[in-house]
Amino acid sequence: MAARWVLHLDMDAFFASAEQLTRPTVRDRPVLVGGLGPRSVVAGASYQARVFGVRSAMPMGQARRLCPHAVVLPPRFALYQALSERVMGVLADAAPVLEPVSLDEAFLEPPSLAGAEVGAVHRFGVDLRADVRRETGLPASVGAGSGKQLAKIASELAKPDGLRVIARAEEQELLRPLPVRALWGVGPVAEAGLRKLGIHTVGELAVMDLRELTGLLGGSMGTELHRLARGVDDRPVAARGAAKQVSAETTFDTDLTALTAVHDAVARMAQAAHRRLVGAGRAARTVTVKIRSADFSTTSRSETSATATTDLGSLTSVAQRLARAAVPEGGVRLIGVSLGGLTDDPPPGLFGPPEPEARHRGTAEVGMAQESAGIAPGDQGGAAARAWRPGDDVEHPTHGHGWVQGAGHGRVTVRFETRSSGPGRAVTLGVDDPDVTRGDPLASLA
Ligand SMILES: [Mg+2]
Repeated sequence: MAARWVLHLDMDAFFASAEQLTRPTVRDRPVLVGGLGPRSVVAGASYQARVFGVRSAMPMGQARRLCPHAVVLPPRFALYQALSERVMGVLADAAPVLEPVSLDEAFLEPPSLAGAEVGAVHRFGVDLRADVRRETGLPASVGAGSGKQLAKIASELAKPDGLRVIARAEEQELLRPLPVRALWGVGPVAEAGLRKLGIHTVGELAVMDLRELTGLLGGSMGTELHRLARGVDDRPVAARGAAKQVSAETTFDTDLTALTAVHDAVARMAQAAHRRLVGAGRAARTVTVKIRSADFSTTSRSETSATATTDLGSLTSVAQRLARAAVPEGGVRLIGVSLGGLTDDPPPGLFGPPEPEARHRGTAEVGMAQESAGIAPGDQGGAAARAWRPGDDVEHPTHGHGWVQGAGHGRVTVRFETRSSGPGRAVTLGVDDPDVTRGDPLASLA
């Protein structure tokens, strides 16, 4: 069989880059994507923000202290989804075998590269990055290696906006000094267990006694990691047709008002979703709770952990904690629990430390639900649900498309600009001005 070449493409700071693309005023500025509520975390950070130490999944308050001059924008998942479809379209044209991992990440194994020299792989990567840039306007990093693990490590090394091809001859040298966390499937628990045995690097793991390793991590996981640590990785690149999430929801005859009743209902929905999860042979990283109040406003909250699980107890307690924070005054009409960020069980893909944005891959629907209901984590509820908040898309009959830079004292300041307009001008209008209406996020791509 000809030597394999697997490529991993990962968009750079995808959410923040999408904001910078469509809102030219913030193109060169530190941008944080996420909510402003007390429990909000950073969903995306531009490279201009990352130099201040900001990372995805960091509490938003901490990120703003590190980078006080950052522009904070709420996520616009409809926009990210549209851009993701363009990215995946480019990749599908380049290679028939394509395995999307999240909105902004995919593996591909182009048949034309089977047995190819490093130079040919390099040229393929250069063209691929150029195609993605041309079709989307966004930067992507590409890594290539003999399997998925090395391709992923290579794309990490390539960041930002780069290309890295790991030749066969340099594999061992490159793997050896990496921390064990760089390997797929090594989460905090496995890492701590290995540390107790004095194993810190991939090189140390590679020369470990296999029986000792399987004793610590279990048979299939231990064997897989032992192989990966030695650069042996024949896992196929395969399109996954399986569901992106499993869920269960129920509407109550009478609105629930007691927190204990809400808790019980969340537990039942978590159990039903969990049955589907296990039935599909998968594990989940993201728990999302949807709560519709008596007045029909809907709030969704979700939480994503670094590792996937099938444990009903921990999935349920996350769901209950999320629900507690989302229970509205006046009663609960509907409760839904969905499990996303699905991986095969046992972790197949054996995914390593996710690129920070990947932590949020399961929350796309959440953001849209929040936007459609006009509920932001930081909102006060009630009247505030109709108020303009920074980052909202705006449409105006004469000024065109724009976004809210600030609002207060009966006025709203809108920056009128789109991807192709270049930096636009800010106009302050009355909040009651009938010409100021909600805009479609996708219009900012024009
Ligand atoms: Mg990325």
